[in-house]
Amino acid sequence: MKIVTDENCTSYNAPGHPERPGRISATVELLRKQKDVPISWAKAPPAENASILRAHTPEHLARLNVPEDFDADTAWFPNIDERARASAGAALEAMRCARRGESVLSLMRPPGHHATRRKAMGFCYLNSVSIAALEALATGVERVAIYDFDVHHGNGTEAILLDTPGTAFFSIHQYPCYPGTGGRNVGDNCFNYPVPPLTPRKEYRHILNSALEHLKNFEPELISVSAGFDAYARDPLAQETLEAEDYEWLGQSLRKLGLPVFSVLEGGYSDDLPELILAYLRGITL
Ligand SMILES: [Zn+2]
Repeated sequence: MKIVTDENCTSYNAPGHPERPGRISATVELLRKQKDVPISWAKAPPAENASILRAHTPEHLARLNVPEDFDADTAWFPNIDERARASAGAALEAMRCARRGESVLSLMRPPGHHATRRKAMGFCYLNSVSIAALEALATGVERVAIYDFDVHHGNGTEAILLDTPGTAFFSIHQYPCYPGTGGRNVGDNCFNYPVPPLTPRKEYRHILNSALEHLKNFEPELISVSAGFDAYARDPLAQETLEAEDYEWLGQSLRKLGLPVFSVLEGGYSDDLPELILAYLRGITL
């Protein structure tokens, strides 16, 4: 299992904010000391404008350097532009590794799936998973699926990829919940699986599996996963019920598709995040 990460992604912080550096540093610590999954570590160059501008407007890219908060949840930080480019760069590297046949996770922050073409929101600045999917399409992949199991709807990814030929987006998320979208399918290629709060694990798994079956029918050459771990029973930001073994099962289910897959960390705010990520990696690699 290859992990693409970089200690720079833990160097910005808003005190008290749930999207905090410890999410990554505690995960790195656990992955270094565990023996279940053999890990190789990699770094990536930052994403360049040519890649970013497939998913975002030039105005949005310029706005990242204006020192004003984006919304109440999404602060401006010094060098947030570089941090977001590093995170998108790691997703791009993960995409390249998957195409070479490697199992790979981009373990970075900030996350990306709420960032739209022209707006930072929901702790997200650049939509790393869309940037990587669009780069794959621009470099020879004909069909790429995006599977988003973060508990929040991937509104930014949906808005960026809406009706883009060669892409299909599948989001499984709590509804109602932030950001309020994702109640129904949109366009030709965005398929939403809204799940009521407090849905029992067994049922939640069933819905995750239905979305995977749907994804299989799209016959993708490559799968990009927005891997958020906030549908966990003890996550502070949502009201779902999954346990670590459900993430292991989800990893296994993705592996069994037998297709190149790369995963990009999105949300997950409980102190158990490192164990959840390890369970997922166990499933996707063993
Ligand atoms: Zn989330």
